[in-house]
Amino acid sequence: MAKIISFECSRCGEKFVPQAKPTICPKDGGPLYVRYDLAEIRREACRPSVCNVPKSMWRYAAVLPDAEPVTLGEGFTPMLPSRKYARLLIKDEGLNPTGSFKARGMSAAITMLRHCGLKKLAAPSAGNAGGALAAYAAAAGLEAYVFMPKDVPIANRLEVEASGAHLTLVDGLISDCGRMVAERKERKAGSTSRR
Ligand SMILES: [Zn+2]
Repeated sequence: MAKIISFECSRCGEKFVPQAKPTICPKDGGPLYVRYDLAEIRREACRPSVCNVPKSMWRYAAVLPDAEPVTLGEGFTPMLPSRKYARLLIKDEGLNPTGSFKARGMSAAITMLRHCGLKKLAAPSAGNAGGALAAYAAAAGLEAYVFMPKDVPIANRLEVEASGAHLTLVDGLISDCGRMVAERKERKAGSTSRR
């Protein structure tokens, strides 16, 4: 498995040494890029086209979390030729397990969160991310809390509830949902040593 060289803030470019539980940039809250030793991967990794790898996103395990995957078969979606434009291929991400590209990120994120030992997960969502979180948390055996604006489409709500996540409908926008998650995180952090 290739080594992680650093985490790099996607906003300010600051680099951080790899740590056990990476979150976001402490300066500006920017999401962190994971920088791998690509030269080493180039030397050692086997090309998915010639190796016996899963037909999922995890065929690219060399640049994914070094942990037991939480997977529902995401990725490896078909490339469909456009009927209108020659040589244009359209990747059908609707065939992912939770119906959108969010399944990819959630598979990687929850793999890492379970690996880090977290038990309760929470996220604001106005659509597909909530359903993906609920489904992947269920697959990982973790508890999920999803905060959605109350006018979110019924399909998104049902997807969250069908996977057994705790759904809170908020009289506000996605930003209000995000603020609620942050506030409750602070309260939980204050009352227990571990979330
Ligand atoms: Zn930053």
